[in-house]
Amino acid sequence: MSLSNSQYQAIMRIYNERQYQDKYEQDLRRQEVYEKIPRIRMLEDELGTQAVRHARRLLDGDEAAGSDLRQYTKQMREEKAALLEAFGFPADYLEMHYHCPECRDTGYVEGKRCRCFRKEQMKLIYAQSNLEEVLEKENFSRFNYDIYDDRQKIPGLDLTVAQYMRQVHSWCMDFVENFEEKGGNLIFTGSTGVGKTFLTHCIAKALMDKYQSVVYLSSGSLFDIFSKNKFRYEPEENTQDMYQYILECDLLIIDDLGTELNNSFVSSQLFYCINERLVREKSTVISTNLSMSMLRDAYSDRVSSRIVGQYTIIPLYGKDLRAQK
Ligand SMILES: [Zn+2]
Repeated sequence: MSLSNSQYQAIMRIYNERQYQDKYEQDLRRQEVYEKIPRIRMLEDELGTQAVRHARRLLDGDEAAGSDLRQYTKQMREEKAALLEAFGFPADYLEMHYHCPECRDTGYVEGKRCRCFRKEQMKLIYAQSNLEEVLEKENFSRFNYDIYDDRQKIPGLDLTVAQYMRQVHSWCMDFVENFEEKGGNLIFTGSTGVGKTFLTHCIAKALMDKYQSVVYLSSGSLFDIFSKNKFRYEPEENTQDMYQYILECDLLIIDDLGTELNNSFVSSQLFYCINERLVREKSTVISTNLSMSMLRDAYSDRVSSRIVGQYTIIPLYGKDLRAQK
């Protein structure tokens, strides 16, 4: 995924702080050593003086100066190491100690993002998805068919709910596996408690683990951000950032569409959001209690025709699982 400017800056700030911290801690260690072993400070000062002296010799044409200095440096290093050891310090006590030795806490190795950068990116993606905690419990590895009815067939389908859910599971897996190449949009419909939200959580987790940026919002919070952005009664940088991120992220999940307070503003913003993401070729997953005809009545023809034309509609069946529990 591509990071937005503010995300990139947030990550780079972490690296800057880390480098600052590394240096600060090294200074503390150095002070401690100087206090306990003053000889080390003398050795270091002396090395500085010698380096200048040898450089002058080199400039004067004395070719032996280079190897003399190397010899001197080596001796001094050995003495320093012996001193540290004698006083019970680890050999690398005066070196910089990096969180990530590979990139030395810069985030980059030879101009490319370090592995630790991806880790930071992942943390940020999770933090911005609004889902950090719930995804530990709700993901594909926790998918359990036992909770679905395996006796009665779904009217019109030659499958029980449990059988049908296996199919739904494999559709969701296909969606996740082909996401980077194909993208696509899904809408889960069905009454309360049939597992719509659980499925959207599974998809969110699987895609975030592939470093895709996912934003998860209940429809109420989504339109809240839209109206704050539009009417600017909370003119925060955050709202604007979030608004852009909603339009740009790899996957937007709108949970429980239809439960928000509907009005013409909501309807037009929903169209804008859905359409804008289609134009940008970004994926959207919606869950809703509404049927397609209810969606058309609640919003508009143009909203429902975009959804019917561009989304894979996955109806879910069965009884309220929450009530059964
Ligand atoms: Zn690194």
